[in-house]
Amino acid sequence: MSRISTDVAVIGGGVIGLAIALRLRADGREVVVIEPNEPGSGASYGNAGTIADYAVLPVGTPAVLRNLLPLLLDAEGPLSIRAAALPALFPWLARFAYESLPHRYRDNTRRIAELLSDAPAAWRELAAEIGASDLISAKGCLYLYNTQKAFRAASADVALRRSYGVAQELLSPDEVLRLEPRLPPVEGGGLFFPDAINLVDPGETMRRLSVAARSAGVEFVQASAQAIARASAGVRILAGAFEIGARVAVIAAGSRSRKLAAQIGDPVRLDTERGYHVEFDMDTPPVERPVCPTAHGFYFCPMRGRLRVAGLVELGGNTAPANARRLQSLAANARRIFPELGEPDRRWLGFRPSMPDSVPVIRPSRGGRDIVLAFGHGHIGLTLAPRTAGMVSALLAA
Ligand SMILES: Cc1cc2nc3c(=O)[nH]c(=O)nc-3n(C[C@H](O)[C@H](O)[C@H](O)COP(=O)(O)OP(=O)(O)OC[C@H]3O[C@@H](n4cnc5c(N)ncnc54)[C@H](O)[C@@H]3O)c2cc1C
Repeated sequence: MSRISTDVAVIGGGVIGLAIALRLRADGREVVVIEPNEPGSGASYGNAGTIADYAVLPVGTPAVLRNLLPLLLDAEGPLSIRAAALPALFPWLARFAYESLPHRYRDNTRRIAELLSDAPAAWRELAAEIGASDLISAKGCLYLYNTQKAFRAASADVALRRSYGVAQELLSPDEVLRLEPRLPPVEGGGLFFPDAINLVDPGETMRRLSVAARSAGVEFVQASAQAIARASAGVRILAGAFEIGARVAVIAAGSRSRKLAAQIGDPVRLDTERGYHVEFDMDTPPVERPVCPTAHGFYFCPMRGRLRVAGLVELGGNTAPANARRLQSLAANARRIFPELGEPDRRWLGFRPSMPDSVPVIRPSRGGRDIVLAFGHGHIGLTLAPRTAGMVSALLAA
């Protein structure tokens, strides 16, 4: 067994772990990242790339709660469940239902809005630091509503976002087409978030983030952490052939953080919302900015050299393989809007680390500040990576 000793051990090299590692290195700390795969190749690679400061609403809302059963049973809909996973998911679902009640929904919205407030500025700063400013596009983001009824039904959400200062513009069907001329006409209208920014290549951004971390002096151990415990002096982590001793550890293993947190006496109701993408190679994607046809629950994401169609929520754990029907319906629904899209060039399944209240866990463990939890970012982990890194840095400095 190889023994490694460090000041800080970060478990997980997704966007959260990498951003934390870079930040702690800038604070002057010695940092080791424990990651079995290519850094940034998990959920952080395959997302929609939106720096979604407008996404203040949790997944669980009173409207979702009212329609939960039909939503989950519609295999072609934006939200579905793997029947085989239902028993294991029950505790998460029960909590999700509770967190969707009006008073919890309002409180969760407030907590998410607080976290998101400076996300675009924080990302611009991080992108400049890692030499990735060229991968940021700043053309806003657009939601589409199929029908007038759906457009009107969104008005309460619009008001709630407005109360948190989110910039939004309601667009008529004609205005939608002026913004995105290649879209087919939409009957309902659009909602435009003018201040939103997005990454045109999340995978390349992750690569530059990990290169920047290495250049700054962060060490990487290619292994999976199996055990974490407090020892007489600091924290001891067993990871494959390595025994890592650290003064402080950060658990940032995305959707696989629950078992590690449980080992140090921090039970958390973390599960995963599986998400999918399909990609179509092309020089000029048919949209200028991320566009979300809200009825379908995915984004058209213009990316470098391709159109990525990313989204859907499938509750069902992180071990079962991709559901071919979900991938087919994602591509088919994309072709309903852009019939010229043929068969996808790539298909992907990823695991959002999701809490029932949609609020990430960023705090010291119950046993003390020598272990910090930083996971559960759900749909907004890319967006919140710099903010999370700043919070972890402040926790460790206190
Ligand atoms: C389809 C889809 C679209 C999305 N769109 C957006 C979006 O537009 N905007 C946005 O902000 N967010 C989006 N997200 C969410 C975002 O991608 C995630 O919240 C974010 O990537 C989570 O980052 P992470 O570092 O916690 O997890 P990950 O990127 O999954 O990284 C976790 C890492 O931990 C490692 N690991 C796991 N177990 C261990 C272990 N035992 N020891 C060591 N390492 C371990 C894994 O190998 C992995 O590399 C989307 C997600 C999906 C699936």
